Amino acid sequence: MAQEIKVPDIGDFDEVEVIEVLVAAGDEVEEEQALITLESDKATLEVPSSAAGKITEMKVKEGDKVSEGDVIALLEAADSGSDDEGEDDKADAKADAKADDAEKEEKAANQKQAEDAEEREKKQSKGGEKKKSSSKGKEKDAKSGEKSQKESQSKSAPKKDHGYDCDVLVLGSGPGGYTAAFRAADMGLNVTLVERHSVLGGVCLNIGCIPSKALLHSAKVIEDAADMANHGVSFGKPKIELPKLMEFKQSVIDKLTGGLKSMASKRKVNVVTGTGTFKDEHTLSIEGDSHGDGETSEISFNNCIIAVGSEPVILPDWPEDDRIWDSEAALSPDEIPKSLLVIGGGIIGLELANVYAAHGTDVDIVEMTDTLIPGADRDLVKPLQKRMSSRCGNIWTGTKVTGIKAGKKSLKASFEGKDAPESKEYDRVLAAIGRKPNGKKIGAENVGVKVDERGFITIDKQCRTSVDNIFAIGDVSGEPQLAHRATHQGKVAAECCAGEKAAFDAKVIPSVVYTDPEVAWTGVTETQAKKDGIEYEKGAFPWAASGRALGMGTSEGNTKILFDKETGRAIGAGAVGPGAGELIAELGLAIEMGCDAHDIGLTIHPHPTLSETVGMAAEAAAGTLTDLYIPKKK
Ligand code: FAD
Repeated sequence: MAQEIKVPDIGDFDEVEVIEVLVAAGDEVEEEQALITLESDKATLEVPSSAAGKITEMKVKEGDKVSEGDVIALLEAADSGSDDEGEDDKADAKADAKADDAEKEEKAANQKQAEDAEEREKKQSKGGEKKKSSSKGKEKDAKSGEKSQKESQSKSAPKKDHGYDCDVLVLGSGPGGYTAAFRAADMGLNVTLVERHSVLGGVCLNIGCIPSKALLHSAKVIEDAADMANHGVSFGKPKIELPKLMEFKQSVIDKLTGGLKSMASKRKVNVVTGTGTFKDEHTLSIEGDSHGDGETSEISFNNCIIAVGSEPVILPDWPEDDRIWDSEAALSPDEIPKSLLVIGGGIIGLELANVYAAHGTDVDIVEMTDTLIPGADRDLVKPLQKRMSSRCGNIWTGTKVTGIKAGKKSLKASFEGKDAPESKEYDRVLAAIGRKPNGKKIGAENVGVKVDERGFITIDKQCRTSVDNIFAIGDVSGEPQLAHRATHQGKVAAECCAGEKAAFDAKVIPSVVYTDPEVAWTGVTETQAKKDGIEYEKGAFPWAASGRALGMGTSEGNTKILFDKETGRAIGAGAVGPGAGELIAELGLAIEMGCDAHDIGLTIHPHPTLSETVGMAAEAAAGTLTDLYIPKKK
């Protein structure tokens, strides 16, 4: 018997236009194959077939208006041709059940899509974009994973007749800047990239993310080797050759920055070395180069993307002394100090404390607030804090450094706090107390760009500043100051410069502390949910029940996922344990795609892996977990 294929729930829309009919009577179709495309004033969506089979009749044509429940086609299901009546019934029941499931799934996805489309529309109109999706632009539904940054490929041709030296000038070559420059060049724009240093890559590649991870790797191997004694395998005391370690770190940096140089050249990006400041809203003055020799030149631009990043905060009343380090100095030490005070228990401070403690330094950590990594949930930080306590001398939270005196042999730090001594002497002191944006150092405010009192440049969803043709991305444009935020913004800004309809609308930005154990979280934290009165269900899986974790000699990890109580969708997640930073990516995707506990739990994770803890945390929330005994709630 022919099945009727109907328009699913498409949100708050009625009388939606059929803009494309993708199949005709007589066509064989697969289950989920798109049959028609609808377009509302908010979005386009495809209506798929609920089963495989043969289309016997199309009930709609292009230009027709349809609403939820209207029949669009008749289909003879692939397995409905049998003579056996009993089999027929079974097949029908199966097809109906599938159709029901598909309809339910579709309903949820379409509802979400409609909500997302509406939200995007609001955001876009805030950002000044008015252009509507092109009628042929097919926006996939929320579950299909196509993010809405590019709602339509309007591809308005770059303006070549503007009379400026370049279409886009990118100021700063960190992860935000080089990404923006390369994306803009790939879209056919004429790009100039201005960087004050002779090497591209910014903080992240040269003195941040990459070198710190290279050193954290050796710290992890040293500690893992020591831990192996518990498994019955003992190694000797590690011999650390600092010049070789630094050489390795530099070789990693060189590979990556060399790659950037070559990619810039292949893309014909004009790289200029010098320090830029704004002369007017279409001209940048560029002074000298990093070696101080040089003249001032000017480059005019149609659009500019500011990506000048941030720099470490150093308190002004501290003495000027080479033994007081910022993170850059700590990543290129002249020697491994005997003792080190790390001021700041945030991500950078803890990563570097981990590096030095593993390489043999006596490390103390002092943190002004009551806890390490204040942005993360306490249950995630606890295993790290326990491990840091065993590898460091002291961790003083709720404690302030009131001064540092530079003596001949040591630096004397004085403290004010509950457990710390009045003062203590160290070979080196590392200040990891935050990074300040460079927004006030480029004369941007003189050309009308709004810069707040801290130095952050104010931007909208398109990364556009208060001056229409000037964009800002990365650390200079707000928090979180993370490389992956900068790169995503870089693409958005470049696409806007090319006339594309783009917006930065990420639901979540993950944070990772690359210590051992790693701590990672994304979306709403439990602390935040409680503070904001967000009702949630939590699914958690302790790594003590993970065969893989136990085999690795680690049992203190934990993976948890928060689901919105009303919608059932994942809204936040966190993990602690080795490799937690790798696990958080899947959870970010789950949140972006609006997954519920079943979506994640029914996704088969390979066994035995740490990634199983993600699936099992979801199963715990769904009530289907068998790897732990969780008594039923009464
Ligand atoms: P930056 O990388 O800061 O680059 C800005 C560039 O602009 C620089 O090259 C600078 O020389 C140039 N510039 C500035 N002013 C001018 C001017 N007037 N003219 C010309 N050029 C100029 N983030 C993560 O996501 N993961 C991590 O693991 C991580 N680890 C980190 C570890 C450390 C030790 C540090 C310090 C940071 C770490 N970060 C990490 C943060 C990350 O480095 C930054 O978020 C990221 O580099 C920001 O990128 P950006 O493009 O905004 O700017």
